[in-house]
Amino acid sequence: MKDALKMSGRMLLPALAALLLLTGVVLLENRPAFTARERQMIRRSDSLMYVTVLPLDSAILRTPSADFTPRELSSKDLRTLLDKMLFTVQHPSQDGVGIAAPQVGINRRAIWVQRFDKEGEPFECYLNVRIDSLSPELVRGPEGCLSVPPQRGIVPRHSAVYVSYLRPGSSERIREHVEGYTAIIFQHECDHLDGRLYIDRADTVFVSAPWAEERKAFSYDRPVWW
Ligand SMILES: [Zn+2]
Repeated sequence: MKDALKMSGRMLLPALAALLLLTGVVLLENRPAFTARERQMIRRSDSLMYVTVLPLDSAILRTPSADFTPRELSSKDLRTLLDKMLFTVQHPSQDGVGIAAPQVGINRRAIWVQRFDKEGEPFECYLNVRIDSLSPELVRGPEGCLSVPPQRGIVPRHSAVYVSYLRPGSSERIREHVEGYTAIIFQHECDHLDGRLYIDRADTVFVSAPWAEERKAFSYDRPVWW
């Protein structure tokens, strides 16, 4: 009897460990994609998202962004987020050539870039995107940022980059060589994902009066939970 009890006690521990492991796997599998705060922001009814600005939202703009998990990559929330980011960057109140997820309050590695190097200059989105390497040659040009109104600056950038990324709906990592103005947009947007802004790199920063006037014509609603 004593031996039998000892034996069942010995078997109980592995069984309990297996059960805990299984519960952990099930919980992870059913874990919702995105945090509750992110889901709340993505699922708001309006397509135009609030654009984070300095200095009010510096905590978000200065935080490095995380990759999407495989579960998040196939989620409906990601599709919604990307649609709303595109709507926001193309909205007359913004009229940008690129946008990064931290600019709509989500610290995740997603960007939209207007491809001036492609016919029709389409906007394309890139996920878990990274700059792999930079050309040694620098070029200087004016830059502005939806999150740093109403300034503009003269910024030195690399003339060409190798970027790697995922496209929506695909798990295949793509590596691409990009040159010219589009390469500068990639650098600007990828900086956002690392918590950097163009003003960190600019030689000079100045206030752009016409842009300031233009933006005053629109009102911005900052979500109450911000
Ligand atoms: Zn920007």
